[in-house]
Amino acid sequence: MKKFAIALLCATLLFSSFSAFAWGPEGHDVVAAIAEKHLTKKAKKALDELLGGKSIIYYSSWMDSIQNSPYWEDGYNKTKTWHYGNVDKGLTYQTMQKNPDGDVVTGLEFLTRELTENYDNLTDSMRVDYVKMIVHMVGDMHCPMHAGRLSDRGGNGMKVRWFGQNTNLHSVWDSKMINSARKWGYIEWVEQLDRTDKKFKKSVMRGTYEEWFNDTVKYAAALYDYVENLGTENPNLSYQYVYDFSDLLENRLLVGGYRLAYVLNTIFG
Ligand SMILES: [Zn+2]
Repeated sequence: MKKFAIALLCATLLFSSFSAFAWGPEGHDVVAAIAEKHLTKKAKKALDELLGGKSIIYYSSWMDSIQNSPYWEDGYNKTKTWHYGNVDKGLTYQTMQKNPDGDVVTGLEFLTRELTENYDNLTDSMRVDYVKMIVHMVGDMHCPMHAGRLSDRGGNGMKVRWFGQNTNLHSVWDSKMINSARKWGYIEWVEQLDRTDKKFKKSVMRGTYEEWFNDTVKYAAALYDYVENLGTENPNLSYQYVYDFSDLLENRLLVGGYRLAYVLNTIFG
């Protein structure tokens, strides 16, 4: 019994030690690492040159970590809302209330357009920054609660407990799910997830940012429904939840990775 209590304490400490930021670093690393495996040779070479030999995995969480720095405040303050879109119940990207500062869809559209149609007019540092942002934002776009409701700030106001600890649904999906589901590093995640056939890859490596975002809206809606159907205030989510939603977690990481490759191949391939 004592052993069990200690194990529980360790698990609780572990699960509560991650703060809310998009997919946590692990999720972004997995998405970027899957993408890296599916880059065309030409795209890989262009990215190697731009990023000075560092990989897209190295920079996958850069946009989260830099956003409070003076560099960011000066040049990119307008991008603070570009990690997500907030969609109230029953709405889609087309019908949701748009944020005047932009969202993950308009942000990605802008960056992609700049890197394709306006490349020659960008400075080197802008090219590099835009690539790093795209790597991060395609990951965020596939994180289900990044299409959460406006009324509760993307699930930040949806109170739940995670293995007994008070948290919210946004934070569960940013990092708690991935860190609880497995104790893998990104390499193990990639090895285990990236095993699908060509047909599946082809079916997801297409489409538009709006369509991809609307997929995320549907997943977010299902996650809200699940919690609301439990019918209890501040419900405790634990092993059963991890079991029930592991498929969704894996799908979002994998599809996000394939689509990031598709975007980078389209720009640089
Ligand atoms: Zn983010």
